[in-house]
This record gives sequence, C-alpha cells and structure tokens, in this order.
Amino acid sequence: MPRTLAKEHIDILKQPPPKRPPRLTARRIGIHTSAAGGVDKAAERAYRLGCNTFQIFSSNPRQWTPCALPAAQCEAMRQLRSKYDLKPLVIHANYLINLAGTNREFHRRSIAAFRGEVERALALGAEYLVLHPGSYRGGTREGGVERLAAAIGQAADGLDPAAGGLTILIENTAGAEFSLGGSPEQVAEVLASLRGIVPAAACIDTCHLHAAGYDVVSPEGFALTLRRLDAALGLRRIPVWHCNDAKSACGSHLDRHQHIGKGAIGREAFRRLLHDPRLTRAAFIAETPIDRPGDDRRNINALKALAPGRPRANAH
Ligand SMILES: [Zn+2]
Ligand SMILES: [Zn+2]
Repeated sequence: MPRTLAKEHIDILKQPPPKRPPRLTARRIGIHTSAAGGVDKAAERAYRLGCNTFQIFSSNPRQWTPCALPAAQCEAMRQLRSKYDLKPLVIHANYLINLAGTNREFHRRSIAAFRGEVERALALGAEYLVLHPGSYRGGTREGGVERLAAAIGQAADGLDPAAGGLTILIENTAGAEFSLGGSPEQVAEVLASLRGIVPAAACIDTCHLHAAGYDVVSPEGFALTLRRLDAALGLRRIPVWHCNDAKSACGSHLDRHQHIGKGAIGREAFRRLLHDPRLTRAAFIAETPIDRPGDDRRNINALKALAPGRPRANAH
C-alpha cells in the first residue's frame, strides 16, 4: 500500500545528525524513504534511519505530471550513496501506471509515465525499478501479459537499462481479481514475456504473498512457499524483498501492510527470511505504515534485530 509523505510526523533531517554511524547487520536492510525536498534528501534520511539500502518514489506516486530530475540532485544522490554505502537503490514506480490495461487512453498515459520512471531511474543510477504488473480488467490474462510486455518495450525504446545497470522488478500482488502477478508462476510468466526486451527480475512482497494465500507463517509453510518461489522464479532472481507484516488474513486478497512483528505474519517469519542462506545477497525493504512518530526507525530496528550477524558499525 502507498505511504504518503504527508503522514511523516517528524522529518529526521530536522533533527540533529547522529553522532555515530548506525549499527548494521550482515544483510542489506532498508525502508521506503521520503524524497521530500529533493530525491537526494532520501539518501541522508535512509542513512540516519540506520539503513544500508532504501527505496524511493522518483516523482509524486499519485500524479501523472512528468518530471525530470535536476542533474545536481542526481549527482548528490550518487555522492551520498557512495559515502554511506547505500545499495541497492530501489525506485518504486507510480501507483497510477497500468501497463496491462485495456483502456487505450489510460494505457498511453501509463507508457509515457513508465518511460519517465525508466529515464529517472537511469539518471539516478538506480539498480532496480519496481513495477506492479497491473490489471487486465476487460480482457484476458494472456492479453494482459502481452500488453504489459509490449508496453514496457515501447516505454524503454531508445533507452538502455542494461547499459545503465538497471533491472525492472515485477512485484507479486495480493492476487485481487484481474490483477497480474498473484502467484510466483504468474510473476514468472510476466518475466518470460520480458525476455529480450529489458533486464527483468522479481520483487517479492511478504504481505502480498500472505494475502494471496501463501503460508509464510508456519515453518513448514514458509519452507514450501520458498520452494515454490525457487521452482517458479529461482531465488536468485529475487534481488529485492518487500518486508511487510499484514493486517489482513491469509488468502484475503486484501493488501494491508502492518508494522514488522505486529501483524498476522509475525516476527519469526521475518527471522527465517533474513536468515535464509540462499538470500544473503538480497535487499530487504520495509513499506510499513507510519502511524506514530518514530515508526520507520522502529520497523528498521525490528528487521535488524531479526537479521544474522552481530551489528557492526558502518565504516563511515
Ligand atoms: Zn502492498
Ligand atoms: Zn511492496
């Protein structure tokens, strides 16, 4: 679910800077971070929250208005990421975009908006751009997958994500009616359709898995769900995990994120995920709600407490 910038009660940039570098674990852990005041500001916020990876929107996630990023902000972002060793940088695409849809005008706007997403991701030097595969309402699922692949090809035409080190990540969804990507197999189907078009891989959201009916809570269910993901996608093709607890029941198809350890998924599932030896190279990013001041830091700390490796001080 979207997080609104307006809901942030206290801007960490308005507080005194930390005296010491944050303690880190043996995993890349981060959170969706506000880019208010300029995208580069998100890097400083992520560092102060104790992250070593982060996700941002590169434009207003609920408006079509195209926006190019000032070169100075892109350069500042590169410098801050290298100073604080913040990687990967994940960009989440605008929520309005639906590249699988049947409405022609909406599809045209979505392609233009997604082209802007790719351009900004390349300008920022981001490693990943996360896209919801969209809804095929009014058509067939197969037609939706075809429209999505063609639209991504059109949006990226003349751009070179491979040369820029950018991979498009197709995110699994809660499996609501007409939405693509409700199962690992459907995400794999979309990835297969993108072969030869753009570098593509998967982003798996724990809350969406749970809402779509996959058991990530019991130890056996967790192991089975990871086996299904491995069989359909290959765990190596999941470089980014969205770590969100869930307010809704397993199989409800309702996408309602909850604070880590406070929902229907619970802490142990995140401990298993963060300790899985096959996932040591992945980035784990929370998109948890902000209900009270300090929630972002609490959710980051909750994930770090469940990750392996003695917390270590950053080199900076
Ligand atoms: Zn969600
Ligand atoms: Zn997500």
